[in-house]
Amino acid sequence: MRIDDGKGAKAFDAMLDDPDIKDMFLMKYPVGEQGLAPDVNFDPGRVRYAPLFKKIYVSNELDKLPQRFLAYLRPTQGTYNCRPIAGTKRQSAHAFGIAIDIARVHSHYWAWSKPDANGRFPYKNEIPWEIVDIFEKHGFIWGGKWYHYDTMHFEYRPEIIISAK
Ligand SMILES: [Zn+2]
Repeated sequence: MRIDDGKGAKAFDAMLDDPDIKDMFLMKYPVGEQGLAPDVNFDPGRVRYAPLFKKIYVSNELDKLPQRFLAYLRPTQGTYNCRPIAGTKRQSAHAFGIAIDIARVHSHYWAWSKPDANGRFPYKNEIPWEIVDIFEKHGFIWGGKWYHYDTMHFEYRPEIIISAK
């Protein structure tokens, strides 16, 4: 991706419609207790070079998977939800806005099963590695790797992925 498209200074609307990476940094965002009643067209952060965002989003890679994988992904079961983990008083990762549940139809959850004769919950999973690999590549851990498995659950935990390598 080019930092500078060579088109020079752009009119405001042209910059929104056809920005380059350099244009995203032309207006300095005023951090903290400043920046109220901004000047006309002072919109720091509204200039977005879409190809950059498309490259860094997990969904871009998921969309490139063959059609047969869609059934595992859609419809998603949600992301942000300020709630405790079912049956506990602990905050769910969904309450922090760092988790996504993919489609429920091929998902398995430890609490939906019954323990075997040894009191152990039998492991079940149908989610393909191709999907897990993409999420892990982008810093998500997968609930399918837990004894208390939750195979629709992916959670943005780059600190765990980095420390695992
Ligand atoms: Zn979840």
